[in-house]
Amino acid sequence: MANQVQLGAASINITPSVGTWMGGYSGRDHGATDIHDDLYAKVLVFSDGETKAAIVTCDLIGITEESTASVRGLVEEQTDIPGSHVMIACSHTHSGPTTREWRYDAPFNDAYMHELERKLAGGVQVANRRLQTVVAGLGTGSFPLAVNRRLTVDGKTRMQANPEGVVDRTVSVLRFDAEDGTPFATALHYACHSTSMGASNYAISADYAGGAKAFVEHTYGGDHTAAFLLGCCGNTRPNFTSDGRSFRSATFEELESVWRGLGAEVVSVRESIDCAPLEGVAVASREVTVPIREVPDVSFYKEALEKEVWPDTGERISRDSLKWVRNRVAEYESDSLLLDPKAEIQVIRVGNLVFASFPGEIFIEFGMAVQERVKAELGLDALHVELANGMIGYVPTAEAIPDGGYEVMAYRHGSQTPSGYSGDAEKIFVDTALELAHETAAAGG
Ligand SMILES: [Zn+2]
Repeated sequence: MANQVQLGAASINITPSVGTWMGGYSGRDHGATDIHDDLYAKVLVFSDGETKAAIVTCDLIGITEESTASVRGLVEEQTDIPGSHVMIACSHTHSGPTTREWRYDAPFNDAYMHELERKLAGGVQVANRRLQTVVAGLGTGSFPLAVNRRLTVDGKTRMQANPEGVVDRTVSVLRFDAEDGTPFATALHYACHSTSMGASNYAISADYAGGAKAFVEHTYGGDHTAAFLLGCCGNTRPNFTSDGRSFRSATFEELESVWRGLGAEVVSVRESIDCAPLEGVAVASREVTVPIREVPDVSFYKEALEKEVWPDTGERISRDSLKWVRNRVAEYESDSLLLDPKAEIQVIRVGNLVFASFPGEIFIEFGMAVQERVKAELGLDALHVELANGMIGYVPTAEAIPDGGYEVMAYRHGSQTPSGYSGDAEKIFVDTALELAHETAAAGG
């Protein structure tokens, strides 16, 4: 059959050494002291004989635009896959290595990052050599882990469990079999922060997705590859609480129970999926400018530095945020503020499946809108993917911004911009993903 899709898969161990500084929580004060479970990059390379695309899924907090460019450069050198056809997506585990400079005191893991970039490109090279014709199908189940983590009470928004808040507990499963029906690879998709393990954990772990992937791989045996795609989950996280509201860390016993439960759900869904040939691979991406909210006068930040208290909220400023403020003040003074930040939005279509990715921590509502509209406008199934090809921080919905809270204000320690993203970002992100999905659908195959 013309243009029938081939798939190659590879699994690369990317576990950092004990001692490596971990990413995600600012409260940690030393490097990793143990390894609970290994971190992996699971690579899927798709080809229709004319167009190829690679999806590299990583047990990492995120990946910078610079590291993405470096991996893409290596992929171009080593394979026939264009760099722009590579999607690097991360699980957002908060128990893995830092992948960028962010802490006031943490050494940057540059030796690890150099090796990581070579490993990710190597994974694409390996998967690209293993291409074989596959049949595929999509199925869905459900898993009761995610909860909305923005609770607004009396006008104050806290990071607490909000059972009434928007959440999507769907587990999407992609089944890929050889033409004779032999199980070949699986991809699972879930939209929930990988923050089961809290800041007190110093053991490297892939969090909830890690052991679930391993469960699926053990079930199918051989070199079956299970990849995890993180859906937009800027405002959802695992529902481990101490009192129904206040979040706490899971224990590793609880995490391992999640692995078995989620892994079993994936296997159960996978078994029920009917497979069919996939036709055509197409890729489209675009760089958009992400609008930011009003930028305060430099005096606001100077006062913040001097008093070590935020002038608007009265809250104490952490050492990490003080470093951030100092950097911004220097930019005001050298007239080099980043006022027009960019984001790469990328869509890969494989047969009737669309992978739509964003480079930050995107609220679940964006992903649900993309999925619904791709289905309604194109009749295709979409999986939304966040923290891919860059990490630009939290991108909240327009509706959430007036409520404030962690995700709306998080730019004050992690962003390159002197203000947070404006509510206009939501429409730009969703509309651009849709336009790109239309482009890939029109690309034929
Ligand atoms: Zn996050």
